[in-house]
Amino acid sequence: MDWAQKAAMSSPRSQRKSIGRTEYTRAYKIGQELYREKITISEAGRVLKEEGMNYSSATDLVMGLRHLLKGERYTRTISEAATDDFLSWILRDYGIGALGNALHSVVKHLHYYEGQFSKRPGLHRVLDKHRRIFEHQSERKMGLDLFLSPEEGPSNEELREGGSKTINVNVYERSRKARDACIEKYGPICAVCGFDFERTFGELGKGFIHVHHLKNLASIGKDYVVDPESDLRPVCPNCHAMIHYGSKSYGLERLEEIRGLIAAAKTAG
Ligand SMILES: [Zn+2]
Ligand SMILES: [Zn+2]
Repeated sequence: MDWAQKAAMSSPRSQRKSIGRTEYTRAYKIGQELYREKITISEAGRVLKEEGMNYSSATDLVMGLRHLLKGERYTRTISEAATDDFLSWILRDYGIGALGNALHSVVKHLHYYEGQFSKRPGLHRVLDKHRRIFEHQSERKMGLDLFLSPEEGPSNEELREGGSKTINVNVYERSRKARDACIEKYGPICAVCGFDFERTFGELGKGFIHVHHLKNLASIGKDYVVDPESDLRPVCPNCHAMIHYGSKSYGLERLEEIRGLIAAAKTAG
């Protein structure tokens, strides 16, 4: 063993306590104090250092959280696991709008990082995961389209989504698969107005779309199973809101009606 290998083995890096969920949880708590301007960055760093964390990892984490909450670009790397946890907790504690800001912040970080260094496929996976949750939640928030299948029956497995509500995993999985199949078939483009999020918003908008359920939930029978091709259509949130606004019928004729209103406004304007 040469001196370099020896040095590497005894370096503080290899002795450093590994960082996991416990540290992220503490950094998140302290980072919230920083975000509320109750403490300074160096105070945050000192508190976490006293608890055994490395000072610079600690300050990277708390500053990272502040950037996420503000929707700003950050340049210091925070691990994929920490980003994953922070995004979940932001949704739980600050709601869907804050998650949207934080996702924007991650996109800006990726843009910066990948422009300077290397690709971060792991971080893209984290981003995609939370983007799905964001879309799903924003649809639920509007009181729209739950692809509930009554014959599914109750399950003990529950998925915690953002902490406030639990939904059945089978229903969630089913709904997610149906969504994916619909988007696979029609593309992530509004079936009413043709809006393409990626074309307008670039990386941020990639794959973003709401999915509308053409069947009226009240008309759905006991053994109904959603057919992604005939029952679902991708729509932008604007058209989606208009489809549901002041109407009890949500079928293809309703989509046609909204499309007609857009066309009429264009001709008039
Ligand atoms: Zn649209
Ligand atoms: Zn809908």
